[in-house]
Amino acid sequence: MNYKSFFPMPGINAGMLTLEDLERITDLARRYEVPMVKITGAQRLYFQGLSPEKLAEVKEELQLLDSLPHTRNRVHYVQACPGKNWCSSATSETERMEKAINKMELDGPLPYKVKVGISGCTRCCCESWMRDIGLTAEKKGWRLSFGGNAAGNPRIGDLIAKGLSDDEAIELVRKTLNYYLKTAEFKTRSARYVERYGIDDLKKAVLGE
Ligand code: SF4
Repeated sequence: MNYKSFFPMPGINAGMLTLEDLERITDLARRYEVPMVKITGAQRLYFQGLSPEKLAEVKEELQLLDSLPHTRNRVHYVQACPGKNWCSSATSETERMEKAINKMELDGPLPYKVKVGISGCTRCCCESWMRDIGLTAEKKGWRLSFGGNAAGNPRIGDLIAKGLSDDEAIELVRKTLNYYLKTAEFKTRSARYVERYGIDDLKKAVLGE
């Protein structure tokens, strides 16, 4: 029987995997007879088709039963391209940004999912304009956009600021998300929020204009 279960592997951030990671994942998949492993568009790795019993066993082996409570005080996921460490077109390093935003603790629970796209140059391989938070490296620093969405009602995000250093960009992401979580209604994605309220008040608040 082919079960329609899927299970995202923890700790696989932005799809960066060492050979040791791959060996560990292969070992786990073999032992639990995972029928199919999927790399998702969000750069995550899913074990698919596990029976409920095997799913419980994998979670227990990874100590996930109680150890990872879901928190809405952090972003849903961060998608990042290889950046300056690995790509010849890049103008900025992306790994530091990805790690900083992934572990960023906000002032409260977010209204809804927040997806982040980080691209190390203007070729924009991580489709930053189409993410709730988009960071794109330009020659003079990071460009930050907010309110993008790629789903049924797609939207290109609004520019918040450009020419940002790494630290300025990280801090501005924090301010933008904190403002959003304090002013948006529950279950309002950033795209719908900007359509409803515009971007000017948010920009004034986070840029101190
Ligand atoms: S966005 Fe630019 S830096 Fe990132 S992978 Fe694409 S070409 Fe390379």
